[in-house]
Amino acid sequence: MKEFYTLADLKKWKTTAPDIAPAIRLGIFGDPVAHSLSPQIQNAALQACGLDLQYAPFQIHADELGTALRLLPGLGFVGVNLTVPHKVAAAGLVDELDPAAKQAGAINTIRVEGGKLLGFNTDGSGFARAIRQEFSVDLRDLRVLLLGAGGGAGRAIARQCAVEGCERLVLVNRTFEKAEQLADELRSSFQEARVLGPVARLEAVEWTEAALRFQIANIDLLINATSLGMRRSDPPVLADSLLAPHLMVYDTIYTPARTILMHAAVEAGARAANGLSMLLHQGALSFETWFDRDAPLEAMRKALKLPL
Ligand code: NAP
Repeated sequence: MKEFYTLADLKKWKTTAPDIAPAIRLGIFGDPVAHSLSPQIQNAALQACGLDLQYAPFQIHADELGTALRLLPGLGFVGVNLTVPHKVAAAGLVDELDPAAKQAGAINTIRVEGGKLLGFNTDGSGFARAIRQEFSVDLRDLRVLLLGAGGGAGRAIARQCAVEGCERLVLVNRTFEKAEQLADELRSSFQEARVLGPVARLEAVEWTEAALRFQIANIDLLINATSLGMRRSDPPVLADSLLAPHLMVYDTIYTPARTILMHAAVEAGARAANGLSMLLHQGALSFETWFDRDAPLEAMRKALKLPL
């Protein structure tokens, strides 16, 4: 097994791969991809279920995605996961989308079936399970602020908040228009009145310190779904002084395990969790999508060294 494979490898797969055992029939497409823990959890799941297949990382550039995806049916792949930056683009490249994926406009899972590519999104439901696991609370009881509402993961999380009827949802994104558009798309799910004081149940908000300070006083759960924090050189996603003890902070990033945002949140007296629990649950749901059977959650959890 190489550290990761590329489009060039896929193009000559029949000469690259025949000696690899078990055979690689699943994988993750991303750029970068070497940091991904998905191979670790999916290979643990395959082993636990006695499935003689292997899952591998593929570094695929944005302009290579369509070509790489089209090769999969001919190579006997069961499916793939998609990570940064492919989730939104991939939704436009598959043959069919399941309803949740269509609504999210982004996919993280593809199943290959009868020569076709079927797109799914397990990020949203995986996220809901992660919040329940980390904070022992359901999304429907929370007022939520989402940073990174314009990305694939952010859109899926926002959709899930709408599906679960969370008390309040504040959408924030570097490119404000994307947050505004998403708010328009979700408006019908937030019609029912709730007693919230001087704030709207659903709004898109400009990414300014003053706007964030006001909103953070009126939410329970703050989520980072931007890619800020993935690289060591990244600036903090928001000023430390904005964090407050009443918050639950969920960073979808999980490397490093204690992310910059988590560190600042804990310093501020807030509760914080990284994205490993979301990775676990979205991965379990992907496995179920590929194999139509329950995922071996304990084996997957163990592979991530998460407490059982
Ligand atoms: P994506 O589709 O590429 O979206 C990236 C998001 O980050 C967009 O909202 C983008 O804003 C924002 N962003 C990028 N650079 C920024 C910057 N310098 N300042 C502010 N915002 C910035 O990526 P994705 O697939 O949604 O992934 C986003 C994050 O979620 C990643 O950190 C990924 O690791 C994490 N994730 C975790 C899990 C898990 O299981 N734990 C699953 C999925 C994703 P614009 O719209 O303005 O470009």
